[in-house]
Amino acid sequence: MSNVSPKSISILGATGSVGLSTLDLVRKNRDAFKVVALTANNSVEELATLAIEFDVEFAVVGNAEQYSTLKQALSGTNIACGAGQAALIEAAERSSDLVMAAIVGSAGLTPTLAAVQRGATIALANKECLVCAGDLFMKEADANNAKILPVDSEHNAIFQVFDFDRPASVEKIILTASGGPFWNRRGDCLKNVTPEEAIAHPNWSMGPKISVDSATMMNKGLELIEAFHLFPVAADQIEVVVHPQSIIHSMVQYADGSVLAQLGSPDMRTPIAYALAWPNRMNAPVDRLSLPKNADLTFAEPDLDTFPCLDLAMQSLHHGGAAPIVLNAANEIAVEAFLAGQIGFMDISSVVKSALDKSDMKAPQSLSMVFEYDMEARRAAQALVEHHAQ
Ligand code: NAD
Ligand code: MG
Repeated sequence: MSNVSPKSISILGATGSVGLSTLDLVRKNRDAFKVVALTANNSVEELATLAIEFDVEFAVVGNAEQYSTLKQALSGTNIACGAGQAALIEAAERSSDLVMAAIVGSAGLTPTLAAVQRGATIALANKECLVCAGDLFMKEADANNAKILPVDSEHNAIFQVFDFDRPASVEKIILTASGGPFWNRRGDCLKNVTPEEAIAHPNWSMGPKISVDSATMMNKGLELIEAFHLFPVAADQIEVVVHPQSIIHSMVQYADGSVLAQLGSPDMRTPIAYALAWPNRMNAPVDRLSLPKNADLTFAEPDLDTFPCLDLAMQSLHHGGAAPIVLNAANEIAVEAFLAGQIGFMDISSVVKSALDKSDMKAPQSLSMVFEYDMEARRAAQALVEHHAQ
């Protein structure tokens, strides 16, 4: 690739699991990429080290109180720095070919939208922004000609096998779910699980929030909603199948009965590499899949009684309107409280369910309504958390 000019990229959420995997691929393909901007929320030292290593133009820390520490850490370099929400947006707005959107939670929505609005190609890891503002987000992407490349492994798999020229030939999308660390447990066994047990995912190494979401299966619920917005299918054309080995990353079933799948070792660097190199392919240093060594691929129906979060997400998708916003916001608050030891594992679904039961908001017509609803649902969920914590 030496005589091709490097692709310029910015990474929102550079210090997280997806952000670091992205930088690992860039590190191993230095000539192919130029890193323009990196952002983090609090990890200033790590951010500064990465900014220097990749010789970026602009480094941003979300927490405004960390500005002077970042400035100090970058003194003597030519790297500009910033802090706070406006600077995160500025990082997204800086000219680059591709933006990796890897901030966790609905906090990723505003900066990712800023990149969408300048028509950048978006490698989209942040699923929460599609869950809470899918219609508006995809409309903005269309209006600004911003290409959205899904990074979430399931959606990346579907993207690779979906016939976008003949969407009517697609019968359904089959999302595979590992089921997380507790998929074969039932009922009461889940009551006393600890945050350490919940974030110990059997196949994937991920950030803490999505790891808890995998354990509750809310992650698959969020992914159902994500798939609904990314692909031209109806809600009832998306199905979830538990596949504990995480080798088949998802499938598309066609009218003639053909089922196309994408397979690979469970390593996020494959879908990230796909998005970074699109429409080409690049080398990724991942374990190559050995089918003989993975001969036992198993499949099962999801158990909605043991994992009510998945059911709540399915209901939210079918209900539409503001339900997915409430689902997502209440889940973010409940997961944070679980990780902080304030509530139990099963309280996560109770908080989300009560928040949904209490809300009667109509479909948001604008992004400011999305943020208003998101805040309102967070307040309601916080009150529910405090009630559960007593
Ligand atoms: P993570 O917690 O490891 O990293 C999150 C990144 O976002 C960090 O750089 C952090 O500094 C930054 N951040 C956190 N809160 C922020 C805020 N309020 N404002 C600005 N920046 C903030 O998360 P992750 O596991 O890398 O996941 C990132 C996103 O990708 C999530 O939406 C997740 O659902 C999605 N995703 C992750 C994986 C995975 O394997 N980790 C797989 C599929 C999808
Ligand atoms: Mg996924």
